[in-house]
This record gives sequence, structure tokens and C-alpha cells, in this order.
Amino acid sequence: MKKIVLATGNPHKVEEFNRFFVEHDFPVVLLSLQEAGFSGELVEDADTFEGNAHRKAQTVARATGMLCVADDSGLEVDALGGAPGVFSARYAGGHGDDEANIRKLLEELRDVPDEKRTARFVCAICAVKCDQNGVESTLFARGTVEGKILREKRGDGKFGYDPVFFYEPLGKTFAELDGMTKNAVSHRGRALENLLAEEKKRNFLLDGE
Ligand code: IMP
Repeated sequence: MKKIVLATGNPHKVEEFNRFFVEHDFPVVLLSLQEAGFSGELVEDADTFEGNAHRKAQTVARATGMLCVADDSGLEVDALGGAPGVFSARYAGGHGDDEANIRKLLEELRDVPDEKRTARFVCAICAVKCDQNGVESTLFARGTVEGKILREKRGDGKFGYDPVFFYEPLGKTFAELDGMTKNAVSHRGRALENLLAEEKKRNFLLDGE
């Protein structure tokens, strides 16, 4: 099976990517950064999700010489002009402090009425590979999902803003959905669907298999 390095240290993302590829019988084995022998730093300083995903995948593809996939994702809240956006992981300061990020978000939205609490999760995925001459090629895919920000947390899921992101068609927050259901409707699931649709056209990931 084709080996692909997943450029993330986030175990929730690894779980969602793995689940998707298994459910779709897509014949790849995902390697963690550690398994690929990468110990460098992944910088996210672009001002778009695509720019950050590209930067992360490129860094790891160059360092390991392997096909590499990265995603960059976040929450866009309409009443906050699209914030926290690419700063979602570090909205309250420290990187990945989900509790503090949610507290800050709910505080910022305290006076915003229910009908104006619209938001979306966005996920950009980028795959990068280098040929023998060092020439790089890329494949991009994006997915989004619309929802509303609640006034308090609901559900046991522990990933990021999931407990306050209400998905109206199912009447639940993302933290109340099981992994399979979340993947079927989420921004990451949709981005992965689009990635496989592009893959059908370009044979980018399984090229040479
Ligand atoms: P990054 O993609 O690693 O830069 O981080 C994205 C940040 O956006 C995460 O730390 C979460 O705060 C948030 N986020 C992205 N995807 C999700 C999701 O599926 N559920 C909840 N929060 C998410």
C-alpha cells in the first residue's frame, strides 16, 4: 500500500483521516511525523488555510522525500468578520488550548443574537510530492460546513470548537456526533471527498502504485 506522511501532530486529525481512508477503501497507510523521521517545526504563518496547508506539506515532503499531506482548518464566525479563521488554534493565546479558545469565543459573542451566530468550519488539504529532480507538484482540496455557535457547550467530543458548533440538519453539536457521522458532514470529511474526486482525475496520490 502507498505510504503517505500526514503532517500533523493533532491526534484528532489523524483519527479522522484514517477513518475516512478506511471507510472509502482507499489503499494508503498514513505515517505520523515521528514514523517518517521528521522532528522539525511546522510553521503556520500564511494568511489563508491553503497557504498554511501547503507550507506544512511542503516542509515535510522536502525533509523526508515522501509524499506528504497536510490540512489547515479553522472556524469562521460571521459576526466576528471571519475570525478566528487561520488563528483558530491560538485564538486565546496559547496554541491548541481548546477550553480557553471556546471561552474567548463565547465571550466575544455574548451580545450577538441567536440568528446572527452563523459560522462555518473550513478545511484545506494540500498534498505535495517531489520528483527525482526536486520538482514539486501539489494537489489541493477544500471543504466547508455551515453551523451556528451556541451559548454553552454540548456533548462529549473534545476536539477544538466542536462542543459549541451546532449543526442544524442533525440538531446536534459536532461534539454530540460519533466519528463516522461527523466525517460524513464535516469540513474535513468534505475536503477529503473532494481530494478523492481530484485523485480520480489526476492519479496524484497513488501514482506509480
Ligand atoms: P490547525 O488546522 O492545526 O491550524 O488548527 C485548527 C484549529 O481549528 C484547531 O485547533 C481547532 O481549534 C479548530 N478546528 C479545526 N477543525 C476542527 C474540528 O473539526 N472541530 C473543532 N475544531 C476544529
